[in-house]
Amino acid sequence: MTTTSGTNGTHLQDQLDVIVVGGGLGGLYTLYRMRQLGLKAHAFEAGSGLGGTWFWNRYPGCRCDIESLEYSYSFDPELEQEWHWADRYGTQSQILEYIEHVADRLDLRKDVTLNTRVLSAHYDSAANRWTITTDQGHTISARFIVMATGNLSTPRVPEFPGLDGFKGDWYHTGLWPHEGVDFTGKRVAVIGTGSSGVQSIPHIAEQAKHLHVFQRTANYILPARNTPLDPERERQHKATYRERRAAAYETPFGIAGHPAPTKGALDATPEEREAAYASKWAQGGSISFLFSYTDLLLNQEANDTAAEFVRQRIRETVKDPATAELLCPYDHPIGTKRLILDTNYYETFNRDNVTLVDARKAPIQSITQTGLRTTEAEYEFDAIVFATGFDAMTGALREIDIRSDTGADIATKWVDGPHTYLGVMMAGFPNLFMVTGPQSPGVKSQMILSIEQHVNFISGCLAHMQQYGHTRIEAGQAAEDHWVEYNNQVADATLYPKANSWYLGSNIPGKPRVFMPYVGGVHTFNQICNDIAAKGYEGFSFDSAGAADGRATTAAAAGTA
Ligand SMILES: Cc1cc2nc3c(=O)[nH]c(=O)nc-3n(C[C@H](O)[C@H](O)[C@H](O)COP(=O)(O)OP(=O)(O)OC[C@H]3O[C@@H](n4cnc5c(N)ncnc54)[C@H](O)[C@@H]3O)c2cc1C
Repeated sequence: MTTTSGTNGTHLQDQLDVIVVGGGLGGLYTLYRMRQLGLKAHAFEAGSGLGGTWFWNRYPGCRCDIESLEYSYSFDPELEQEWHWADRYGTQSQILEYIEHVADRLDLRKDVTLNTRVLSAHYDSAANRWTITTDQGHTISARFIVMATGNLSTPRVPEFPGLDGFKGDWYHTGLWPHEGVDFTGKRVAVIGTGSSGVQSIPHIAEQAKHLHVFQRTANYILPARNTPLDPERERQHKATYRERRAAAYETPFGIAGHPAPTKGALDATPEEREAAYASKWAQGGSISFLFSYTDLLLNQEANDTAAEFVRQRIRETVKDPATAELLCPYDHPIGTKRLILDTNYYETFNRDNVTLVDARKAPIQSITQTGLRTTEAEYEFDAIVFATGFDAMTGALREIDIRSDTGADIATKWVDGPHTYLGVMMAGFPNLFMVTGPQSPGVKSQMILSIEQHVNFISGCLAHMQQYGHTRIEAGQAAEDHWVEYNNQVADATLYPKANSWYLGSNIPGKPRVFMPYVGGVHTFNQICNDIAAKGYEGFSFDSAGAADGRATTAAAAGTA
């Protein structure tokens, strides 16, 4: 495994053009694209292996909720023909194997330093360089820095008093031990019923002596209907891969093959609606379900029809009526939090060794030496699993001390929520790019497509700079302000802000409540980016070193979209 070149990085710095932070799908694709531009890039990754999400999240049942044939890089047509996915939805280990294969195929490992967390990134305006420090003692600078730090890469354990004194074992799903965990014969608690909880609970229940599931919020969970990948389906998909990839860019979620709805739910009869939802339920998957009607994310009454359909399925599946009712979500419109796909989640609550606890009615107060205490009862456990998610979208960036000698620092800039231009740059931080940053569609899409779209846009900026001899690019303040405002307007026209979700930072105490993703859709976002690029990167300012490009500097303060 390649690690560092030179103990303090001096050797690296001699040649480096671009520092990349993160060795997940985003960081790896960035390395590849930088190489294509003739730039020397090097990535730093906190983990001991590549893969990001798919390296860290090794909890039992971890699986992609987008079909394998879609959730893969599109930039290498040979790779997509050669690679065989075993399942309709990739498991964590299958996706990790794929990422490692790509890293080897493109010989990327030599440009990644593992086991190294970037602590700070400081911009020196006179030198026009970013200098990073790491927890391994590196001090390295380069002209450009690309933050491929991930949207869901900062696991958070709620600050329950007493955790330090717990005598059993505890785990976070996002930091799962590589050797796995055997819960056989153990009394186990799972705290949290988001995607990681829903995926792991059926597996843990099969091993545990008894499993208590602490649920604060009931979520809408749809069947994945995972199967081994059908060879005929694979053949057909591969025969039209190029067209499908192109078509994905024309869709809201970056996923092709789901015909866009043409009719609103309220224009259909109750019988038509029932049939439509039932057919999507039988197919499995979340996108097709949301694509049942045009107005599900726009109109509460329309949304209620789909929500009630799901609640009805829960009542049919879970035998104990009180447990079923507790599992029924009522407090947010369906689709406004990430829709979760499951295999046997609701059925698991029919097992004798599984108990659902209402942690909203009786919140967890503290972890004790032998278990935990809620406002109503005390429980004893041998192991506690925190499926409590991440400081999403801004967490990893805010953990790095990002500042410029001109006075900008990220903690101050984002004190009331993120401010970005396209989720790709921030005013005040020249030459610093983000991959799928806040206010881009990233987490609301097939993320590999969004990663490629963003990194391609960044590469376009850099190619433009190379062409015109620029050395410095920065998001204009007016363009950024306009983008933030537009982003909020788009969200406010939907039902999304109605859910207390991690899109709003609601799972992290004290985090500003700002709706963070761009929800205008991948298709719209991509078009906006293409238009901005066609106008000489409108909204960005460039240094005047390359006088050849008059457009770039005059476009500095222009708004967009
Ligand atoms: C359990 C789970 C399931 C998911 N399922 C899906 C799905 O079904 N479909 C989908 O589209 N997306 C899914 N996602 C989102 C997933 O994160 C993306 O699809 C994709 O893997 C993101 O890649 P990335 O490189 O941008 O970020 P990541 O994979 O998060 O990689 C970022 C890397 O940066 C590193 N890093 C962060 N900060 C630092 C630092 N300061 N110094 C050094 N290294 C640092 C982290 O260690 C991490 O390895 C899922 C996420 C999770 C957590």
